[in-house]
Amino acid sequence: METAATLDPIGIILNKFRTRGHSRYGGEAISQLEHALQAATLAEQADAAPALIAACLLHDVGHLLHDLPEDAPYDGLDDEHEQLGAAWLYEHFQSALVEPVRLHVAAKRYLCAVDSIYANQLSEPSQQSLVLQGGPMTPAQAGHFEEHPHFRAAIDLRRWDEAAKVPQLATPSLEHFVAYLQASLL
Ligand code: FE
Repeated sequence: METAATLDPIGIILNKFRTRGHSRYGGEAISQLEHALQAATLAEQADAAPALIAACLLHDVGHLLHDLPEDAPYDGLDDEHEQLGAAWLYEHFQSALVEPVRLHVAAKRYLCAVDSIYANQLSEPSQQSLVLQGGPMTPAQAGHFEEHPHFRAAIDLRRWDEAAKVPQLATPSLEHFVAYLQASLL
């Protein structure tokens, strides 16, 4: 039998989604896999670059890599899933995929600082994790963040992330997005 160590990175990702993707996405009414597929579908519909579509699919892969309980944020723990995910992704994928993933929590802290409509529509689990993630950015932090070369992609990902929480929404399958992953390999 094939083990994780012998699988290529895309095989490992597909395996993670197939075996763990049915766990609940934070405190939301959808699964990790549904959330990932919805985010990637929104990016594809917006004609995003292939690496950004792939980033949307993988933005929460850190949640699938660790063994914390799914309700970790409620126990006062920030699982730092964006750092965990990015560290693994950097071994295999281009920075145009990895950087928006790494920055997607920073993008939320940025948007909460500059966009009150965004801040007010955050779901309750997302509001709770925001506190653990450091709260909204200061004006100085926000100005610095705008200088980042992947700033725009990180913001786009974050808005699709936030919108990708619709129970029972039909999307293309996981397999549909494999071509975007292949296009984003190192
Ligand atoms: Fe997410």
